[in-house]
Amino acid sequence: MITKVLSGDVAIKEGATLIKSGEVVAFPTETVYGLGGNALAPNSIAKIYQAKGRPSDNPLIVHVSCVEDIYPLVREFSDVNRMLADTFMPGALTLLFPRSEQVPIEVTAGLDTVGIRIPSCAIARKFIAACGVPIAAPSANASTRVSPTTAAHVLEDMDGRIPLIIDGGESEVGIESTVLDLTCDIPTILRPGAITAEMLAGVLGEVKTHKGEVISSAPSPGMKYKHYATTVPMVIAANMQSLLAEYDRAKSQGLDVAALIRSQDACMMDGRKYIELGKTDMEVCKNIYSIMRDAEKSTQHIVCIHLGDEGICRSVMNRLNKSAGGKIV
Ligand code: AMP
Ligand code: MG
Repeated sequence: MITKVLSGDVAIKEGATLIKSGEVVAFPTETVYGLGGNALAPNSIAKIYQAKGRPSDNPLIVHVSCVEDIYPLVREFSDVNRMLADTFMPGALTLLFPRSEQVPIEVTAGLDTVGIRIPSCAIARKFIAACGVPIAAPSANASTRVSPTTAAHVLEDMDGRIPLIIDGGESEVGIESTVLDLTCDIPTILRPGAITAEMLAGVLGEVKTHKGEVISSAPSPGMKYKHYATTVPMVIAANMQSLLAEYDRAKSQGLDVAALIRSQDACMMDGRKYIELGKTDMEVCKNIYSIMRDAEKSTQHIVCIHLGDEGICRSVMNRLNKSAGGKIV
């Protein structure tokens, strides 16, 4: 199969035609690129899992272009959902709802809940609206690999596996959406993202955060899998001192090492090889996946600085800890 990369209205038109004929199409969102298929068609869902090589007990998020399109997919839309939708939709927040009969169990991996999101990316919403059906979409990477934030990243993993990538430039946010479970007593973050615990608590009063360590069983089935992995080993350094020590240790073993650091700390590197993640937390979040993909191509060992435990850094660290398999020095 030839994989086309197109942009603009031509891409959206061709993408929508492909979706209607049961194909899968990669498309941009503000979080990461998605691999979309008709959420109401089990055959299309099967193609998504196949193209990604994703375990079929890992549920997909359903993407719609407006709040009204959520109603047929859910059995209940509470006042709390209304408040959250008013505040954070469109945006990087996925809400879990009791699934209606319309949503095939293939999408939810057999669960009674369905995760739904409205992307803020205008191209994504235009594409979904043109399809005329809700779009089930995981991130458009091969299963276990780093999520894509550009069309070129998608092509690296999906070339020959899907007919079309809609190119919408670089993803603005850079990591996946926050997943919030409202079907339990206290609203619980299953996956942290750009919509932070603090932001949600501002609306809800209280939320339970998810700590983000690698865990073997969790309420969100996808969380037990290896995720966001670089193709070369990566470790997290608790501070710059341990980063430099780990760098020198790996170097002394003859490895080509790259340090991923905040731009402000570049002056401490003293001739060692490094990649700047950015100055602000938002910059770091936007760049992280792209830099991980660059680093895995150019080195044999990656050591990344611990970024912090609050706000969006907590979300980025959730991904980095998984990439590193929990290895901290
Ligand atoms: P991805 O498609 O790669 O962004 O991953 C989507 C993730 O959202 C899954 O791995 C789950 O962790 C979570 N998720 C989606 N739908 C549900 C659901 N119905 N219940 C629990 N978690 C969900
Ligand atoms: Mg993913």
